[in-house]
Amino acid sequence: KCPLPHEYPLHPGNHVDNSLDLWSRTDVQTCTYWGAPIIWDGMFDPEYYDEFYRKQNITVALTVFAVGRYLDLYLEKFLTSAEQHFMVGQRVVYYVFTDSPEKVPKIKMAAFRTLFTFKVEKYSRWQDVSMLRMKMISDIIDSHVRHHAQYIFCLDVDQTFVGRFGTEALGDMVALLHSFYYRRPKFFYTYDQNPKSTAYIKTGDMYYHAAVFGGTWQRVKNLTQICYDAIMQDKMNHVEALWHDESHLNKYFLLNKPTKLLSPEYCWAEYIGYRRDIHVHRLVWAEKNYKFVRQ
Ligand code: UDP
Ligand code: MN
Repeated sequence: KCPLPHEYPLHPGNHVDNSLDLWSRTDVQTCTYWGAPIIWDGMFDPEYYDEFYRKQNITVALTVFAVGRYLDLYLEKFLTSAEQHFMVGQRVVYYVFTDSPEKVPKIKMAAFRTLFTFKVEKYSRWQDVSMLRMKMISDIIDSHVRHHAQYIFCLDVDQTFVGRFGTEALGDMVALLHSFYYRRPKFFYTYDQNPKSTAYIKTGDMYYHAAVFGGTWQRVKNLTQICYDAIMQDKMNHVEALWHDESHLNKYFLLNKPTKLLSPEYCWAEYIGYRRDIHVHRLVWAEKNYKFVRQ
């Protein structure tokens, strides 16, 4: 049984969430057993949220990495589509991490939206590019984000916004349900199975997708720091988690429960096909030729 929204133990004083209608969607799970809402289309009034956060005058940071071929292939589409759909009407600061800053496309941005580029190394292994994002996000929160934004989202670049990704997605600690697994038995979840890895999970509850996570900068700082430490410990022990940063993220969220979950509408893989419970697509995966992009 779901608690009433104002009974959520994890949401003291989070008045905005009292407006979520958990019972408007009877076809899907709208709250977790620990009391975090799962955001589905139809559960919220977008205008209510936008107005609430505009009054708070918040700034949302958005980090994205485009290293090697990922820049040419995905960054422009990612940014232009974010301008159309990501936190529209709010202050947004983009943080683009790339090995070739000179190639970052100049995007026409709405008022109160800015973009900073940071140069990063191109590690020879794509797994390291992906995993070490944790370290760079943790560092940028300390040096920059904490002075400019209250909330931060960290996204993969190989995806495109096609629908509203708005203020209803803001929360203290936000995780995304993976579109492959949200209706599947836990048996299918691809947690790390190696007891030698710090990401090892014997039995979990949800399977989260590392392509999207976010929250307040304080919570995301803690997450990225702990995941990075765990990744480095694995490296010292010569092990690597099955799905790299995603395995570590799942371990972190198992031990530190997110306060808000996003339904797979927030990152849908179109080739899954029609699903009756998916009413809108907000982000969709871009096509990827793995051999080509990861060389
Ligand atoms: N990435 C990158 N260059 C690389 C490898 C990864 O920029 O060589 C970044 C990029 O933002 C990408 C993310 O790391 O979206 C995660 O990697 P990828 O999307 O390939 O992982 P998948 O979603 O396939 O698990
Ligand atoms: Mn990806």
